[in-house]
Amino acid sequence: MTELELIIDLFKDTDRQGPGSTENTARALGFVEADLSAPMQIADIGCGSGAQTLALAQHTGGHITAVDLFPEFLDRLNARATNTGLRHRITTLQASMENLPFQQEQFDIIWSEGAIYNMGFSEGIKAWKRFLKPGGYLAVSEITWTTHTRPAEIEQHWQREYPQTDTASAKIKLLEENGYMPVGYFTLPVNSWLQQYYLPLQALFPAFLARHGHSSQAVAVVEAQRSETELYQRHKSYYSYGFYVARKLQG
Ligand code: SAH
Repeated sequence: MTELELIIDLFKDTDRQGPGSTENTARALGFVEADLSAPMQIADIGCGSGAQTLALAQHTGGHITAVDLFPEFLDRLNARATNTGLRHRITTLQASMENLPFQQEQFDIIWSEGAIYNMGFSEGIKAWKRFLKPGGYLAVSEITWTTHTRPAEIEQHWQREYPQTDTASAKIKLLEENGYMPVGYFTLPVNSWLQQYYLPLQALFPAFLARHGHSSQAVAVVEAQRSETELYQRHKSYYSYGFYVARKLQG
């Protein structure tokens, strides 16, 4: 198995593939000034196994097109949607966020939690804007520095992992420069990282390692996750996921 296949095999059994929570999805939705019970069109890009897709279906009257590159996650989302009676409200689509088969101005809301980094925040907000109706909303969560300065260890880690890691003011400026009106920003609380994401993931390590006969590649995947969690525990006052909600300018 390649490293990517192992990562998918580990993450496909988690309820979410990045920090977040249903409460925080609902909190971001609170910045959308529209009748949420209306039959809106919503895209959820980089949906994973659909934690926020299900939350969007529960908290709106919209139809959600949930996109991910990997069918393993979409299969899990479809099963969860069926089990929760939300299957008719969700369409899954295997596609790359960099090459979306959408129409111009198709969506009222474009949602993306913990995923836009795969193409880059700056590239994503530019590329996806055409798919939003004028006055439509973009809601994305993105790794964000929460202080002006920080220890070199964590600075270097995120620079290496994702060079666009930056402060909220820099991200909000990018939104403004690209034809969006920022309407809301908050950071995800510690609970969204630990209880919702890292701890449930850790609980899967023993079965994952057993399934792969404790191969050196499987051990390396687990060690990388452990090390990211440990960095978070030590440096969590310097970064979080920022949740950005912005409105596409009219005309
Ligand atoms: N939104 C989910 C998943 C976040 S993890 C949650 O918060 O739980 C990031 C997701 O982006 C993964 O599911 C991964 O498969 C997906 N992804 C990675 N590259 C992608 C691409 N180029 N196009 C679409 N999805 C992609």
